[in-house]
Amino acid sequence: MSAKDYQKDYYKTLGVPKTATAAEIKKSYRELARKYHPDANKGSADAEERFKEITEAYNVVSDEKQRKEYDEARSMFGGFRVPAGSRPGPGGTTFDLGDLFGNGEGLGDVLGGIFRNRPGGGPASRARRGADVETETTLPFGDAIDGATVTLRLTGEGPCPVCGGTGAKSGTVPKVCPDCHGTGQQARNLGGFGLSEPCKTCRGRGLVVEDPCPSCSGSGRAMSSRTIQARIPAGVADGQRIRIPGKGAPGEHGGKAGDLYVRVHVKPHEVFGRSGENLTVTVPVTITELALGAEIKVPTHRGPAVIVRIPPGTPNGRVFRVAGRGVRRKDGTLGALLATVEVVVPQDLSKKARSALEDLRIATAEADPREDLLRRARAE
Ligand SMILES: [Zn+2]
Ligand SMILES: [Zn+2]
Repeated sequence: MSAKDYQKDYYKTLGVPKTATAAEIKKSYRELARKYHPDANKGSADAEERFKEITEAYNVVSDEKQRKEYDEARSMFGGFRVPAGSRPGPGGTTFDLGDLFGNGEGLGDVLGGIFRNRPGGGPASRARRGADVETETTLPFGDAIDGATVTLRLTGEGPCPVCGGTGAKSGTVPKVCPDCHGTGQQARNLGGFGLSEPCKTCRGRGLVVEDPCPSCSGSGRAMSSRTIQARIPAGVADGQRIRIPGKGAPGEHGGKAGDLYVRVHVKPHEVFGRSGENLTVTVPVTITELALGAEIKVPTHRGPAVIVRIPPGTPNGRVFRVAGRGVRRKDGTLGALLATVEVVVPQDLSKKARSALEDLRIATAEADPREDLLRRARAE
């Protein structure tokens, strides 16, 4: 308690009259502490400041002896500003107000420790980014091509909904840890080296819970599931991981939310396949269509069939490229549909067809398609 503390109006801070009973003070403090507790205010610096003020005020006026001394000091010096350092008392005598409480260590400093002495310093350092979260989803083939909005159910750890993350039973608030005085750190002496390690009593939190929340047993954390809508962009491939910023676990004390990673599985299509930004399809053709040339209908994905012209003498297995019928690229343009022609050998021939093929055999008897192969095989 330092001199400047006498200038603070603790009653005003707690919203109670000077004549308030201990019960009234306690009630008002609890309400205010709940309202301004940093864990319930997403790291708002203002709320944190208020929480420190009301806790500091409560620590003094809830203690009968300290309250009496505070009241006496207020009535004596209340309105005066006491310059730090010189602290002249009435009549010119030097009067150390700090001695009034017989305790030079300010409560304000102790409480300040909760917020200031964290690794990294200021209140902002309490802000912690939420964890990244991974999940999976399975898309129909077409949704992967065109993009889709999917509903994802995420399970993760978050603030306990019963106590709002404070870990304290309803109607109570966490107390400053008595072992580390709120710093969350404990000094350890190792052969002359002063080391500090996280306080064992409060596990580095700086606060301890006397009446634990029955729902989370004082941890302040709870498993919860939430449902979110996520946009899967067009053109996602099977096995691809999509990053959705800000949809991961919520941050703590005003920290940003983590990212959500969605592993996408794509159901295969009966007809179409994928090759990067292109779609693929295998189109059955007859031997005569390839030999004589033809115009054939090729199906497209989610669109009308297109006509592809097969030139005479097209080899089996040739790939025809139909532009603009593939997968949507990032820039909005479309990949191609790659149509592979595959000869279908007729199984049940009509009499007429058989006779026509017999005629073809005779007409082409001189051309042995294996002549070149056999010659090359002998070459070595
Ligand atoms: Zn709880
Ligand atoms: Zn501690």
